[in-house]
Amino acid sequence: MTDPEATPRITGEGGIIGPVDASRVPRWVGEATFARLPRISEAGQADVAILGVPFDTGVSYRPGARFGPGHIRESSRLLRPYNPAVGVHPFGVRQVADAGDVAVNPFSIADAIATIQGAAGELLTGAGVKRLLALGGDHTIALPLLRAVHAVHGPVAVVHFDAHLDTWDTYFGAAYTHGTPFRRASEEGIIDKTGCLHVGIRGPLYGEADLTDDSALGFRVLPATDVEHLGTPGMIEAIARRVGDRPVYVSVDIDVLDPAFAPGTGTPEAGGLTSRELLAVLRSCKDLNLVGADIVEVAPPYDHAQVTGIAAAHVGYELLSALALGKR
Ligand code: MN
Ligand code: MN
Repeated sequence: MTDPEATPRITGEGGIIGPVDASRVPRWVGEATFARLPRISEAGQADVAILGVPFDTGVSYRPGARFGPGHIRESSRLLRPYNPAVGVHPFGVRQVADAGDVAVNPFSIADAIATIQGAAGELLTGAGVKRLLALGGDHTIALPLLRAVHAVHGPVAVVHFDAHLDTWDTYFGAAYTHGTPFRRASEEGIIDKTGCLHVGIRGPLYGEADLTDDSALGFRVLPATDVEHLGTPGMIEAIARRVGDRPVYVSVDIDVLDPAFAPGTGTPEAGGLTSRELLAVLRSCKDLNLVGADIVEVAPPYDHAQVTGIAAAHVGYELLSALALGKR
């Protein structure tokens, strides 16, 4: 495994370079990239890139999401090349590659936001990448990622999976935190206020104004308490109705899952989705005009037996499958 060029890999259509061949190189051997995909330098170029953003200076409670990208990659070693739930080889029909991590400043949120926006922008414009899947990191990173996506696609609808609204104004006077990215994005005009939706919201708020503010910022709420009577088909329908054919950015805060399914996160709330429900809903993204996505708030210091890391790896796999199947 010392020479990446000599590593046996699964290949796809038209010379696509896929994951390391697990029948010839054991899954636990070698450096972890997402799903053992090639690095972007090994692939030469990529249609879809995975970008790690190991930043957690924006958290309001338990830190640790800076270790998220590495943990998700380590937890993704068992992903296999064919997705039978939707009938696609996600790494065989488009060149998918791991773009590594952004070297973010842990002492300056403003500096980190600029660096993340620059790195995402460089991939989307300079490197010819069409779609980005970012691995956080805390939810602060959604703002610079949305700015980079907006520069290419204009205002995008946001489907935001989270226990929390993340449209609060400030914490301790700070405007850029993991609880504020979607208020800032709405104020900046980079999201389409007619097409945004939160899914999985639950738990106590500061007051009723949290919800009226949120609505004015352009979001509708599909709370976790509705999951039981709507079921996954009802959730999928509600999302499709809100989003329509707009370009969509999907942001998955892993705390949308119940702490039973994702203990390794910074601000857990009881009563969340099961991983089966979340994965089923994400599969429907193949019918949306998906232009970018992130998976955030995976905090390995609170994880056990890779439970949260494995959930996040499968979330990434379904999002990449949706990108592979999506219309361009
Ligand atoms: Mn969040
Ligand atoms: Mn959250």
